[in-house]
Amino acid sequence: MTLDTVLARIDETLPEAVDRLLELLRIPSVSTDPAFAEACGEAADWLVEDLRDLGFDASVRPTPGHPMVVARAKGPGKHILFYGHYDVQPVDPLNLWDRDPFDPELQDTPRGRVIRGRGASDDKGQLMTFLEACRAWKAVHGNLPGNLTIFLEGEEESGSPSLVPFMEENAAELRADLALICDTGLFAGKPAIVTMLRGLAGDEVTITGPSKDLHSGMYGGLAMNPLRLLTRILGGMFDDQGRVTIPGFYDDVRELPDEIRAQWQGLGFDHAGFLGEVGLSLPAGEQDRTPLEMLWSRPTAEINGMWGGYQGAGSKTVIPSKAFAKLTFRLVPGMDPDKVQTLFRDWVRAQVPADCTVSFTPKAGAPASEMAVGDPAFEAARLALSEEWGQPAAFVGCGGSIPIAGHFKTVLGMDAMLIGFGRDDDQIHSPNEKYDLECFHKGIRSWARVLDRIAG
Ligand SMILES: [Zn+2]
Repeated sequence: MTLDTVLARIDETLPEAVDRLLELLRIPSVSTDPAFAEACGEAADWLVEDLRDLGFDASVRPTPGHPMVVARAKGPGKHILFYGHYDVQPVDPLNLWDRDPFDPELQDTPRGRVIRGRGASDDKGQLMTFLEACRAWKAVHGNLPGNLTIFLEGEEESGSPSLVPFMEENAAELRADLALICDTGLFAGKPAIVTMLRGLAGDEVTITGPSKDLHSGMYGGLAMNPLRLLTRILGGMFDDQGRVTIPGFYDDVRELPDEIRAQWQGLGFDHAGFLGEVGLSLPAGEQDRTPLEMLWSRPTAEINGMWGGYQGAGSKTVIPSKAFAKLTFRLVPGMDPDKVQTLFRDWVRAQVPADCTVSFTPKAGAPASEMAVGDPAFEAARLALSEEWGQPAAFVGCGGSIPIAGHFKTVLGMDAMLIGFGRDDDQIHSPNEKYDLECFHKGIRSWARVLDRIAG
């Protein structure tokens, strides 16, 4: 069977694959620091050369910032775009590294062999898993798998300023049937495909009571204190079961399909350990939901900051004129950020007495994204990952946002499969970043299996 031959080839040539990764890791492509701009260009050139060796039609594409790398290999079947980023985070504080961050090496540790160096996991090691899978495939089949575009960015760690304009200008070229993004991790050591990302809405509230700060002896009891009003309103935003009380808040929330709920149960999420790391122990969301539902598939209301009145040393007997709060809401598929904001505002306004006023400062929001897991490619990839890792892979959620996935959807109209092999202890963005050799190796094998099922 040819897949077995490709997998065997990956196993045999792993040392060379590691050497290539080490070479890429030696290029200090820190995108945020202008002192490393040349190195970013060098990393892009290195990748283009490697992609050309593999038989891709590859080029460095200038942007106002660091260049993009775009590579194309036409073939039969579904057009698949692979995304990764070649830039890395700064290395400070340097004294906490046990070696030069840009002099990477293979190290033996009590938890196995690791590739140590800046970018080993985020994201050079991860992006090379895909290129190495293509390399082994080509060696066995004589051609690249399917119908591929490789799209590598050099500004991911510095806010991706050129990304959306570049996508818009090159939409016809970049639009594919499906995107693969390799910049995430395993979930509790298990393979996972991120298919749900929560969205965001936000607002800032200002409640004004008296026209100026007042003496609490002269006015207290008769004059309304806007902090009292604000705390009463926001204190009523949750019931004792952890549910948000804003009328209509849950109207558009869709229930999690039973099949996905079952997959999540199989993940064995250790919520006590997860909360324990931050000094907590009790799930604070809707009490009739599992901890993973609270994190991934249920919306939240969060008070991010509240202030007003006297906050200096000592005390001051004041009734302040104004009270403030900043809030954000994490949204799930089906919810509209503008509608959530309107529901919140109407609910606040209805509670403000006639002699006080409330005003709002809007914050930009974004809807949640949900991939079309009905596309057979998702199930195919899930099975491929389950085979490689010897345990069932799951379609998982992500409580935060991963902007690139949203951009693929909104700018190019395509769904993305987020598949990555990082581990929680990879120390990405921190000193002594590493990528487990096992993750690199099995990552390459995983892509070979995924491509075998979905390409061409
Ligand atoms: Zn990354």
